[in-house]
Amino acid sequence: MRGFIATVPDALVPGTGPRPVWIMKPFEFLKQGEAAATVNPSLWRQAQLNAIHGLFKVTERVYQVRGFDIANMTIIEGDTALIVIDTLSRAETARAALELYCAHRPNKPIGTIIYSHNHSDHFGGVRGLTSEAEVAAGKVRILAPVGFMEAVIGDSVSAGVAMSRRAQYQFGILLPPGPRGLVDTGLGKALARAPVTLIAPTDIVDTNMDKRVIDGVEIVFKLVPGSEAPAEMLMYFPQFRVLEMTEDVTHTMHNLYTIRGSEVRDGNLWSRYIGEALETFGEGTDIVIAQHHWPVAGQARVADLLRKQRDLYKFINDQSLRLLNEGYTPAEIAETLRLPASLQQEWSARGYYGTLRHNAKAVYQKYLGWYDGNPANLDPLPPVESARKTVEYMGGADAVIARARLDFAKGEYRWVASAMKEAVFSDPTNRAARELGADALEQLGFRPKPARGAMPISSPPWSCAMACPGFPLAAL
Ligand SMILES: [Zn+2]
Repeated sequence: MRGFIATVPDALVPGTGPRPVWIMKPFEFLKQGEAAATVNPSLWRQAQLNAIHGLFKVTERVYQVRGFDIANMTIIEGDTALIVIDTLSRAETARAALELYCAHRPNKPIGTIIYSHNHSDHFGGVRGLTSEAEVAAGKVRILAPVGFMEAVIGDSVSAGVAMSRRAQYQFGILLPPGPRGLVDTGLGKALARAPVTLIAPTDIVDTNMDKRVIDGVEIVFKLVPGSEAPAEMLMYFPQFRVLEMTEDVTHTMHNLYTIRGSEVRDGNLWSRYIGEALETFGEGTDIVIAQHHWPVAGQARVADLLRKQRDLYKFINDQSLRLLNEGYTPAEIAETLRLPASLQQEWSARGYYGTLRHNAKAVYQKYLGWYDGNPANLDPLPPVESARKTVEYMGGADAVIARARLDFAKGEYRWVASAMKEAVFSDPTNRAARELGADALEQLGFRPKPARGAMPISSPPWSCAMACPGFPLAAL
């Protein structure tokens, strides 16, 4: 709440139809202090923080609108006009965020829009802030990191159909908000409901550490391609002693592999960029901001956050590599890897968005690809044929379901979900199999934490959680 100025009730952004584009009201259930039994308490806390919305003063001339979309809008007051970093994901939410700012600050036109990276929650609202005609007339210029348009096309066009379909599941778009439904995405509350817009950038930042003065505001652009996005940049504002870490440093463990599907990310490079930012700008920074979540103020706290995020991605990369070089497969590495105690207790290292398991598998994918080296997995039967044979060998669907019910009662939800996958693929009309499978997946949603009893492959000093099964594990 630091720097809070004002908001509008429920952060309501109406749409043209009956459903609003954005509204926080359905998340009021989070006001209850105690976590619901169906939600991991750590996620509950994150969901409460992500429900805060409004206009915030970061420092002199630097403002943020948060909680009006899944991402943040950062507004820098130039000498004559505004510099807006990121446009939120939809024109409607972007316009509402700008209106909130304008209601409480002296009115200035937008002179510059900066796209921090190529994900749509950072550029999709641009037509709520300006028009193609204004941009063509040179009234508003749009800056973006090198490779921006190519990366947008890669994500949103080439694989766009599949990726947006899968994103509906990743972000729980069709789930009703509530303690048994949509609680949070980890990065922010939810996805807004409206089309994504785009205006191509007019000015590309293609030199690392490019120093520019835009309308009286000094900005150092640090290019970080191939970290959280293929085209991405950090920004440092020496006048304001503010470091903008975009989406490379947030208050969650991010994704090396995002389950909506996307090219796998390089944890080693990501970590290196954070380290470089800390070394280059750390001493000159009093406040770190990002395009999700809240700022951190105070030089020591800034350095602490950056160090831990740097170490987080480095650890996942290096330890997954160590295990894959020892011959372990993705599922085995995911089952084994635990964060060291120094990171396990860190809020910002917790898996509210990415998870340690997905990320460990991502490292394997990056270096070795999808094949785990077992020739039986090189060219197996496709899912339907395989499921029919499997269920037949297991004594038929009824026998499989009967045994799965016993395992469900014992809490073996991961296995029940796998067994019911076979039953459903062998016969999609089998309602009992579908419902038991859905129940198992629902329980996994309620209890998102690693199963107990996983055996450590080796006993390195960082596997403390393995030795204490009651330890509050961070991964969600
Ligand atoms: Zn984002």
